Amino acid sequence: MEMFCFQCEQTAHRKGCTTTGVCGKSADTANLQDELTSAVIELANCNKINDENTNLIIEGLFTTITNVNFDNKSVKELTLTIKSKISCNSEFDIKSVWNCNEDIRSLKSLILFGLKGIAAYAHHAANLNYKDGEVNNYFYEALQGISKDLSVDELTALVLKTGEINLKCMELLDRANTETYGNPVPTKVTTNIEKGPFIVVTGHDLHDLGLLLEQTKDKGINIYTHGEMLPCHAYPELKKYSHLKGNFGTAWQNQQKEFDNLPGAILFTTNCIMPVKDSYKDRVFTTSVVQYPECTHIGEDKDFTTVINKALELGGYNEDKEITGINGGEVLTVGFAHNTVLSVADKVIDAVKTGKLKHIFLVGGCDGAKTGRNYYTEFVKQTPENTLVLTLACGKYRFNDLDLGDINGIPRLLDMGQCNDAYSAIKVAVELSKAFNCSVNDLPLSLVLSWYEQKAVCILLTLLYLGIENIRLGPTLPAFVSPNVLNFLVDKFKIKPITTPENDLKEILEQC
Ligand code: SF4
Ligand code: SF4
Repeated sequence: MEMFCFQCEQTAHRKGCTTTGVCGKSADTANLQDELTSAVIELANCNKINDENTNLIIEGLFTTITNVNFDNKSVKELTLTIKSKISCNSEFDIKSVWNCNEDIRSLKSLILFGLKGIAAYAHHAANLNYKDGEVNNYFYEALQGISKDLSVDELTALVLKTGEINLKCMELLDRANTETYGNPVPTKVTTNIEKGPFIVVTGHDLHDLGLLLEQTKDKGINIYTHGEMLPCHAYPELKKYSHLKGNFGTAWQNQQKEFDNLPGAILFTTNCIMPVKDSYKDRVFTTSVVQYPECTHIGEDKDFTTVINKALELGGYNEDKEITGINGGEVLTVGFAHNTVLSVADKVIDAVKTGKLKHIFLVGGCDGAKTGRNYYTEFVKQTPENTLVLTLACGKYRFNDLDLGDINGIPRLLDMGQCNDAYSAIKVAVELSKAFNCSVNDLPLSLVLSWYEQKAVCILLTLLYLGIENIRLGPTLPAFVSPNVLNFLVDKFKIKPITTPENDLKEILEQC
């Protein structure tokens, strides 16, 4: 069976997966996800804007993100539900986009993949009852644009508007998370695991984690985060639970090794779920849009009893277990979101003015399996002592157990949170540019980013919408960006691929 998918960084031969997904997605799942995407676009074309339709659009888009849903049955059911609601004849096949002129295909892909990322963030915000009319309405406008015969200029405008709307959506999610759970505060997180029953929670959804913490508080079970859930330790209303103990393991691509025969239950609240090995399939639970064949799915009632019972049955380790991060460290410090960083803005500004702080690097973004991604570890290790490193998202596991020391009492390595907390980095950059009375591009700040899936696409579009220049992007450039579109990005935004840590650091610091 044939398929076509080129939405993530690990796509086959840097062109597209055509027989099976490098991510493990089979051709039939890929084709069912294409049908789902087509149905979502038909719904946006035909139906009026209301909560029911918007929820279906958001769920449909989120379901098709890389490493979210491998379960054909649930993808089919959602497609049928959406099709049953479509109120006019507006047949659309997303394959028509894959087959069109490469520049149109490239621009429409940027819009569609960016929208998928926004859908994920809007979904998390909605779980906490935070919604934004402008964000929701844009799903209809952009999906309609994908099905229309628009010019390159019109599509380019929609690409940048996708970045603008994602900024609003990240701000919405930031408000949802901080108003519900408090502003993150600096918090040290252990990588060691205590003996006894435990549950590992991964993904982005703080609401699901909060419900699990409440349901497990008197059960003699400890909770550990994995991957994108690490930043939750810094939120006061989550860290108040004494059985939220620490972080297990590293980023998503290591889960098959890290979860192998794990004596604890594992709950996936969002991506990235990798193909689940038999050695731990019986202890994997999914919820929300994540689904995997033969793994128990926790429905809308969010009753985690089966997860709790599995953790008790498995019993955990017999003795406390020492586990380190990738570089041998046992402590990860989190909680440097915009509120905390801006509270020490005076110190940062003073350090820049007195020459103690020469440059700030934002080294953030996704992690993945490719060997070239150790660029980011080496880059951070080689940053001079008079520089700060802001970080966020999955890629930080490559260096977040390093102790880089401090400048004027400010740690040199500041973890700002999940990938959606790119909003924090933007807020800090904007405030610093006001303090220095210059543009963000004139700050002593450089962005060195890594990407993997579609949430990273919408963040990149936000940075472009804001006019941020000189972004270094790796480990490879997106396959869906055509040569002409790439030339446009290079000309207008001076975007560039990463080279080597030595070269890139030298070039950045010489320009200071
Ligand atoms: S999500 Fe990525 S790896 Fe999976 S099929 Fe698509 S391009 Fe290939
Ligand atoms: S950092 Fe990248 S890989 Fe991790 S959840 Fe965000 S978009 Fe996905």
